[in-house]
Amino acid sequence: MTQLPEVEVARKSLEREIVGKRIKSVEVKTTALVRHHRNRPELYRALDGRKIDAVSRRGTALLLDLDDDCTFVLLMGEHSWIASETASASPGRSVQMVTTFTTGGALHYHDVTKTGAMLVLADTELASVPELTPGGVDPLADTFTWQAFNQKLVEWARPLRNVLTDFQVLVGLGDTYADEVLWTAGLSGARPSQRLSAQEVRRLYRSVLEVLHEAVKQGGATEAEAEGDEEESDPFINVYRRAGQACRRCRTPIRHEKIGGELSYFCPACQT
Ligand SMILES: [Zn+2]
Repeated sequence: MTQLPEVEVARKSLEREIVGKRIKSVEVKTTALVRHHRNRPELYRALDGRKIDAVSRRGTALLLDLDDDCTFVLLMGEHSWIASETASASPGRSVQMVTTFTTGGALHYHDVTKTGAMLVLADTELASVPELTPGGVDPLADTFTWQAFNQKLVEWARPLRNVLTDFQVLVGLGDTYADEVLWTAGLSGARPSQRLSAQEVRRLYRSVLEVLHEAVKQGGATEAEAEGDEEESDPFINVYRRAGQACRRCRTPIRHEKIGGELSYFCPACQT
């Protein structure tokens, strides 16, 4: 799943690279990705010659604010990412959209599972897109307080691992970061979310912030890691895809088993 830190990293780099640029051309490979429009030309017409004024993020969606009171929305798929390229770079197999700019450069949108979507909407219509109004809190936003988090943990009353990946609780934590957060907090994913002590809730809350901010600072998990190359995991990743390797806290081998109903990576000794 495309997770929050990687989308936030993409937002920051797009902010530097494409704000102020004017769109020269757009090409989408798979029609299903423009399902919110009648056809691809309708999307192309809405984007033709438009200047990008700002780039923002709502959950795991990227919003490119255009100069005509419309927004180009990119809903990330199960496994998507965005890369800046030169205008002449040939798109790889996973590239589903190429946008070029009048002043040079291009944007390649990769979508391995073709589950993402792209659409242009009037700014006033943004609230009507369900994907842009998730029920959960954005853990990188100011609205993420430990009190609000505690309330969700009590209400949800399910194993922790399960609650952390639920978008109705938190937006953008997938398998990688849920495992990392639980390891950092020293908590087992099997623990019922409603039975944590106040101290444990605070520890979990701080771990969510620490893990996500560090991931953003490090530029997100690399694609090699995201695509399952066990040898190339990032140094800031402590448990995810490290089965059999020594826990960095207590040297116990990391396990990869179902916990709280979810297949996850954890240390059986220091996560309790
Ligand atoms: Zn350990």
